[in-house]
Amino acid sequence: MESKDKPYIVAGPCSVESLERLEAVTEALTRVPQVRLVRCGVWKPRTHPGGFEGLGEEALRWMEEVKNTRPEVRFCCEVARPEHVETALSHGVDALWIGARTTANPFLVQEVTEVLRGTEVLVLVKNAPSPDVELWAGAIERCRTVGLRDIMAVHRGFAMLHNQRYRNTPLWEVPIELRRRMPEVPMLCDPSHIAGRQELIGELSQTALDMGFDGLMVEVHPAPEEALTDGRQQITPTALEELIRGLVVRQTAEATPDVRLGLLRSEIDRLDRQMLELCAERFGVVRKIADVKRESNMALFQPKRWDSLLQQHLADGKELGLTEEFVKGIFEKIHAESILVQRELKVES
Ligand code: PEP
Ligand code: MN
Repeated sequence: MESKDKPYIVAGPCSVESLERLEAVTEALTRVPQVRLVRCGVWKPRTHPGGFEGLGEEALRWMEEVKNTRPEVRFCCEVARPEHVETALSHGVDALWIGARTTANPFLVQEVTEVLRGTEVLVLVKNAPSPDVELWAGAIERCRTVGLRDIMAVHRGFAMLHNQRYRNTPLWEVPIELRRRMPEVPMLCDPSHIAGRQELIGELSQTALDMGFDGLMVEVHPAPEEALTDGRQQITPTALEELIRGLVVRQTAEATPDVRLGLLRSEIDRLDRQMLELCAERFGVVRKIADVKRESNMALFQPKRWDSLLQQHLADGKELGLTEEFVKGIFEKIHAESILVQRELKVES
């Protein structure tokens, strides 16, 4: 996506609740030039039974009605079954999104995309709730397999057992990995479902742009406190305008050639190479240790030694300004690999 098109904003209510509210929110959103698509949930995948599950075709008829007076508005809705796709398209919906719970199920993704074979509909693919890049990439591949070309990825965070700050933890490394694999797929961030509350939407949106995301999918409702679903995380159209006004859109490195960047990157490349050489040297020593242990009939894993090493590394790391989490993560990885090397499971030339 070109810089001039950023940020690409998809905004609209979590669920369509009435014609009046749909008209009100659409009217407000047409005044925000960055809004390219109005999102509207009409079939709501509720985790627990008994909640508001959307108004289905009735809501689609309202969308058609709004489009009669505002033909420039482009609507998108979530689809989770082949019938949803057929019904949505028959009511003139312009784009579709595959929700997190559907992306998690390749059978459903296959059925949903099959109905789209031969069309040119824009499809947005949200990540699955589990932190798994494969399901997300796989759903995008299934879209491509049926010939769809207009595809975007939407990062909506991941369901983790111990969520404190977020409703769905961002785990930015997962969308970054998707981007590495599929750099041509525009990527939006859904700060609403990550945050779960209005207060965090601004900072999450800026973080996403800082990471090179192309835009955002934001839940917007004319009266969030009265919303039937996700009221805590929906913002008003006015708050959306303020949010967009405050965002700083970052350029891609290609768009801002700067010699300093080139120099710094070669410095990084040199350091990375050094780190790898040091690791290789270390595993060479580990192999020698393995020989000694074998000769003296010692167990490969010595918990006391591992614990004292780790304590030393944590203390050194602290002195060097590195976080405990980072130092621990690196040395756990190195230690696990050392054990494998000692068991000769990883003997390379
Ligand atoms: C939604 O966007 O309304 C939604 C249900 O999101 P997700 O699939 O990300 O949970
Ligand atoms: Mn929602």
